[in-house]
Amino acid sequence: MPQSRKQVFDAVVVGSGASGGWACKRLAEAGLKVALLDAGPPQEDKNFTEHMAPFQMKYRDMARALILKTRPIQGQFYECSETNYQWFANDLEEPFTTYPGKPFIWGGRLRIGGGRTNVWGRLSLRYSEQDFKAASFDGYGVDWPISYKDLAPYYDIVEQYVGIAGQAEGNPVIPDGVFQPAMPMTCAEVQFRERVKARLGWTVTPGRNANLTKSLNGRPACHYCGPCERGCVTHSYFNSSFTTVADALKTGNCTYVPNAMAYKVLMDTDRNRAKGIVYIDRNTREPHEVFGRSLILCAQTYESLRILLNSANRQYPNGLANSSGILGHYLMDHVAGVGASGEFPDISARPTINGPNRPCGIYVARFRNLPNGPRSKGFIRGYGYEGGGGAGFNRNAPGFGEQYTQQFREGINSVDISMFGEVLGRYENFADIDSDVTDVYGIPVLRFHVTHGENESAMLRDAAAAAAEMLETAGARNIRSIDRHLPPGRVRHEVGVARMGGNPKTAVLNQFQQSHDVRNLFVTDASGFPSNPCQNPTLTIMALCVRSCDHLMEEMRRGNV
Ligand SMILES: Cc1cc2nc3c(=O)[nH]c(=O)nc-3n(C[C@H](O)[C@H](O)[C@H](O)COP(=O)(O)OP(=O)(O)OC[C@H]3O[C@@H](n4cnc5c(N)ncnc54)[C@H](O)[C@@H]3O)c2cc1C
Ligand code: SF4
Repeated sequence: MPQSRKQVFDAVVVGSGASGGWACKRLAEAGLKVALLDAGPPQEDKNFTEHMAPFQMKYRDMARALILKTRPIQGQFYECSETNYQWFANDLEEPFTTYPGKPFIWGGRLRIGGGRTNVWGRLSLRYSEQDFKAASFDGYGVDWPISYKDLAPYYDIVEQYVGIAGQAEGNPVIPDGVFQPAMPMTCAEVQFRERVKARLGWTVTPGRNANLTKSLNGRPACHYCGPCERGCVTHSYFNSSFTTVADALKTGNCTYVPNAMAYKVLMDTDRNRAKGIVYIDRNTREPHEVFGRSLILCAQTYESLRILLNSANRQYPNGLANSSGILGHYLMDHVAGVGASGEFPDISARPTINGPNRPCGIYVARFRNLPNGPRSKGFIRGYGYEGGGGAGFNRNAPGFGEQYTQQFREGINSVDISMFGEVLGRYENFADIDSDVTDVYGIPVLRFHVTHGENESAMLRDAAAAAAEMLETAGARNIRSIDRHLPPGRVRHEVGVARMGGNPKTAVLNQFQQSHDVRNLFVTDASGFPSNPCQNPTLTIMALCVRSCDHLMEEMRRGNV
C-alpha cells in the first residue's frame, strides 16, 4: 500500500486465516471500512493440486529432502508437501528460538492468504459448559469469563456458514450444533462405535468436519478426492480465502494488503489508543503504515503475541497492553502421541485403490473427569481421540507369491485412534522476544520456554491404556499401542498468551478479546483462551471472533472506540 494513502480505516485486521477472515466478513458486511493485512500472497485456485497424482509431480511427491532445505521445521509435517511447501514460512528466513533444554516446535506457519485454513484438518467441535468452567470444577487455573450460552448463538452462525458435516449425539461433552449430514462411517468404525457405546458408554462419532456434504452458498458438496491440504478447486471445505475473505472483498468495503508482515502497533500515546500498524512489505522489505480507528490482531496466537511484544513503548515497556505482566504466559498447546490400532478380521469389506477418499475420520469424545463420573487419580481435565478405520491392503499378510497376493488384495479391516489432551495453563510456560535474533525483515523473533508437566504425563499413560481397552472391547485383534510423548508445539493447537478475564490485573483481554489497557485493540485468534480444552480450537476461535466484532461495532456506536 503506498505510503501517501493516509486513509483511516474503521478497522485494521492483521491475518486472513480462521479468525481474520471472519473479522473482515463481519465488519465489512456491516458497512465498516476494513484493511486486511496478510503476510502472504493471496491464495488462488490455480495453486490447488488436490487432483494431481504423484507421477505428475516433478519429484513424485518424494521431495522431503528438498523441502527440508528451506523448511526444516515446517517440512516435518505431512501437510507441507512438494506441491504446497511455498505456502509455508521459510524457517531459515523466519526462525524462532528456544531456551536451553526446552525443545519446542513451531509448525504450521503459513504465509499465504487463508493461513492455516488452507491445510487444517477441519475437525470442528464445540466446547462444553464444563470446559468454560473447568476451574470451578477442579480448582485449577481460571474459568473463562463467558459461559456456553454466551457463545452458543455464535457457534450457530459460524456452523451455518462454514458447513460442518456431523452427527448429533446428545452428549454434553461435545454439544450438538448445526450440522450437515455426517459422512458415512466404515463397517469397522460402526462396530467400534456401537460396541464402545454399549459396553463402556463412551461416544464415538463421525468426525465433525468442515467439509460439505450438501452444497452451501454456491460451494458444492465434497467429491471425496482426499488431500484437502493441497487445496480444493470446488471450495468444498472451509478455507477462509475462498469463503469469509472472498465475501468481505465482495462488499467493496475491504482493502486487501497482501505480503504485509505486521511488525508493531502504532500508538497515539496521548489518547492511549492504537492508531495503526507498521508492516514490512515482504517483496520490497520496505516499511509502511496503515491507520485505523480500531485494530484486530488475528495473525495466529504466537504471531499476534510477537507483534504485541515488539510494540513495547515507554508506556508499556514489557509489551503493548501488558500492564498485567502476563502477556506471553500461560501458553498452552495439546498433548498427544499415544493411541492404538487394532484389526477386525471378521469384517469382510474389501479395499479399493481409487477411493472414495473420505476427508474425515472418527472422534471419541472425552470420558474422563466429567461432572457425573469418577475423578481420575493421576490427572485433571481430559482428552479425546481422533482416528479412523476401514479396509486397507494387507501389507503384513503372511507367506509369499500367490498366497501373499491374494491376502494382500483381500485386505484387512482395522481402526486406529490417537489422543489429543488438554495441557494445563502455567505461568512458567511462555514465549518472549529474543533480542539477539531477527528474521529477514528485521523483526525480532520469539523465544519459547515450554514444557509439559506431570498432569500431561499421567494423562498420556491413561489414554494409552484406554485406547487399547476400547479396541479390545470392540473385538479388535492384534492390538498395537502407540506410546510416544510428542514435544511441546508438535500439535498445532496453540492458545493462551493473552488470556481473557474480568480483572485487568490478571488478564490481558476482557471477555470480548478487547485489551483492558488499550480499548480499541482486539486480539481474536486463540491468544485469549484461558484454558485449552481437548477439543480442537478453531470453531471456538471463529465463534468468539464474530462475538468480539459485534462488540466492537457496539463500542463504536457508543463512541467508546
Ligand atoms: C496441519 C494442521 C491441522 C489442523 N487441524 C485442525 C483441526 O482439525 N481442527 C481445528 O480446530 N484446528 C486445526 N488446526 C489449527 C487451526 O488451523 C488454527 O487453530 C487456526 O487456523 C487458527 O486461526 P488463526 O486465525 O489464529 O490463524 P491462521 O488461520 O493461521 O491465520 C493467520 C494468518 O496470519 C498471517 N500472518 C501471520 N503473521 C503475520 C504478520 N506478522 N503480519 C501479517 N499477517 C500475518 C498468516 O499469513 C495467516 O494467513 C490445524 C492446524 C494445522 C497446521
Ligand atoms: S476431499 Fe472434498 S473437500 Fe477435500 S479437496 Fe477433495 S473435494 Fe475438496
